[in-house]
Amino acid sequence: MVQPDTRKFFENLSGDGKSIAVLTSGGDAQGMNAAVRAAVRMGLYVGAKVYFIHEGYQGMVDGGNNIIEATWESVSSMLQVGGTVIGSARCKEFRTHEGRLRAALNLVQREITNICVIGGDGSLTGANLFREEWSGLLQELKQQGQIDDEAVRNNSILHIVGMVGSIDNDFCGTDMTIGTDSALHRIIEVVDAIMTTAQSHQRTFVLEVMGRHCGYLALVSALACGADWVFIPEMPPEDGWEDSMCQKLSENRADKKRLNIMIVAEGAIDRHNKAITADNIKELVVSRLGFDTRVTILGHVQRGGTPSAFDRILASRMGVEAVLALLEASADTPACVVSLVGNQAVRLPLMECVQMTQEVQKAMDEKKFEEAVRLRGRSFENNLVTYRLLSSRKADSELPTSNFNVAVLNVGAPAGMNAAGHRMFAVSDGFEGLYKGKIKEITWGDVGGWTGQGGSLLGTKRTLPGKHLDKIAEQMKLHKINALMVIGGFEAYMGLLELAKARDAHEALCVPMIMVPATVSNNIPGSDLSIGSDTALNAITHVNLWRFYFRYKLTCDRIKQSASGTKRRVFIIETMGGYCGYLATVGGLAAGADSVYIYEEPFDIRDLQANVEHLTEKMKTSIQRGIVLRNENCNENFSTDFMYQLYSEEGRGVFDCRKNILGHMQQGGAPSPFDRNFSTKIAAKAMQWITRSLKESFKGGRVFANSEDTACLLGMRRRALVFQPVSHLQEETDFVHRIPKEQWWLKLRPLMKILAKYKTSYDVSDSGQLEHVSRVRPKESHTSAAI
Ligand code: ADP
Ligand code: ADP
Repeated sequence: MVQPDTRKFFENLSGDGKSIAVLTSGGDAQGMNAAVRAAVRMGLYVGAKVYFIHEGYQGMVDGGNNIIEATWESVSSMLQVGGTVIGSARCKEFRTHEGRLRAALNLVQREITNICVIGGDGSLTGANLFREEWSGLLQELKQQGQIDDEAVRNNSILHIVGMVGSIDNDFCGTDMTIGTDSALHRIIEVVDAIMTTAQSHQRTFVLEVMGRHCGYLALVSALACGADWVFIPEMPPEDGWEDSMCQKLSENRADKKRLNIMIVAEGAIDRHNKAITADNIKELVVSRLGFDTRVTILGHVQRGGTPSAFDRILASRMGVEAVLALLEASADTPACVVSLVGNQAVRLPLMECVQMTQEVQKAMDEKKFEEAVRLRGRSFENNLVTYRLLSSRKADSELPTSNFNVAVLNVGAPAGMNAAGHRMFAVSDGFEGLYKGKIKEITWGDVGGWTGQGGSLLGTKRTLPGKHLDKIAEQMKLHKINALMVIGGFEAYMGLLELAKARDAHEALCVPMIMVPATVSNNIPGSDLSIGSDTALNAITHVNLWRFYFRYKLTCDRIKQSASGTKRRVFIIETMGGYCGYLATVGGLAAGADSVYIYEEPFDIRDLQANVEHLTEKMKTSIQRGIVLRNENCNENFSTDFMYQLYSEEGRGVFDCRKNILGHMQQGGAPSPFDRNFSTKIAAKAMQWITRSLKESFKGGRVFANSEDTACLLGMRRRALVFQPVSHLQEETDFVHRIPKEQWWLKLRPLMKILAKYKTSYDVSDSGQLEHVSRVRPKESHTSAAI
């Protein structure tokens, strides 16, 4: 078994003798349950006693049955459920000293001195206040004779850790709050539905999304669906926006664009702090332009439904990290929130984040809108800049048109290409199309609406350029191609390497070339994530729904007739990915799998046997369901059929087996909001690079680029997009298995095992140490190449 690089083991971090309480407070959000589940299981794993506090602070104030001990099984089957299973409430009493005194008594009686709060900034502010007052509250309880000296001594310090659950993504310091990604899924589902019906009519849609104080949902969904206009509280439109908006809509109509979409955040305002509502906009469009206009208000739909894969993973990682933060806290560690920055867990001081969040509101109240956007953070600002860049139709006419020709191969979502001012050519059918000359000029109008479509509209073919280099060079010369952008997976990477190596022999290949990673497998060296993998993860995660389906069906069956056979069932599911275990592992974490077999972590028959025994034990509990994921190439001989037969035989009389090979369902379907935005942003960045490189390599009337750094891969590393010469990435590549030699997500495997009740070691050095908010403040973005 491959063990992670373990510098510090869990064994050093014992929760023996500690009690941890978990509560959800304020507005609910999808993914809160995953955070509760992870915190409970991690707490039990380290040997602590864990309590649920039902109904948020109300339960803490009321005590009694609201505070009950949690067990491993009690958090089963909640990963896929939206909202919060343990209940949330708003609680007036907790805002009073009296209320907090009662809450303190309830905790001391159970010796609970560690609390995980999952909620918004209000809930976290309350938690911090409670912590600050704690010793005073204990003294007061002692004077009242409610507790004795020993109780005061034993419970002298209260540790608090926060996890932000809020669909609005309105909390400063964290990149993403729990629930935001799921809410985006709901919004985009509605937009896609509107788009399909609306194509047949000429219609204008005004969509109101949540966000009373924060425009994140509105902005990012506008970016994901290519909306014509977006209204957000942080950046109200300039005075006179009514005229510009109507002008834009009528220009669209003149261009035969059939559908206009405008997105309004609930809290949208104009420059004078006056609300702009969906109805205002509709009236304006109808009275000025007479267009058929419909208003859709999404409301609570956005909080509903099953959490997205990302939210489940985010919340699971946060829950584990929260428990670690509690175990490591000392008397003078300030209360912290746990969060993810890029793919790294971090801890941030709670009050600094709360204060910064409040400053945003203050800036908006004072009409300092630029300041508000800056305070929201780098990611927000960046989304705004990208949206402006892409929605500006003026790009066509106002940018100096260059004489450069740029070819794009294998494109999924090439939005925004015209913004660079070059003439763009699309190549169909990948490298094959390139040597066969399937090259066609494209314009702004051609790509409208591409972001919402799955797969690749240009078609892909798995042919490498190798044998056809002469022809490719010829076609490049014929079409006067001055730069090349390749969007694709491992083939694209190998192809680009071949083209770069052939530059000495073919001058036509001495042009800037850039690759953008797009493959569900996420196996491209130089990039932590690739376009398409988030969509695939969501497809895998939905497999979880079968569990529900079967449970439901079996329950129904049982009612109809007395139970026949067993209802205990283990699913063996095969995922794609070539030799790369990303989809299986991360999908397994999101779906709550019992084990995940991948090529990168060799296993043998003893491991399979141990897993069968583990499942047999599990069947004795109330859970009675198991999921085993298997990457398609995890082991040549232990195939899906073999495992199915082995588990069926070994589990005979205890559980049934079902197998499923997910296959191409993982590749298709509508792209997830994250993939739409990621591809849009990365493609825009790649185009900027091309523009820059063309300028730099244009000498003596021609483009000539043959240095290593003119054949690049643009990848996401941590949270930055970085340009890396493909030739340098060779060292990092395992060409036989078509995977990077180092893969960051392998460190998530112990976490997945812990949550599935395996004893394992975990490298806590990967988890976050306390960082200050200033580190993630926009002004000091980590690298200049930040997205
Ligand atoms: P959110 O956590 O989603 O921002 P609220 O602001 O409604 O939601 O806060 C949820 C609960 O947290 C409140 O009902 C209250 O019990 C508690 N709370 C919020 N702010 C404070 C505060 N300043 N002092 C004490 N408790 C607070
Ligand atoms: P950025 O800040 O990179 O412009 P976003 O605002 O879309 O992009 O997202 C903020 C952060 O959260 C980024 O670091 C991104 O990697 C991460 N993130 C958001 N949604 C997802 C997702 N579905 N899958 C993976 N990472 C995500």
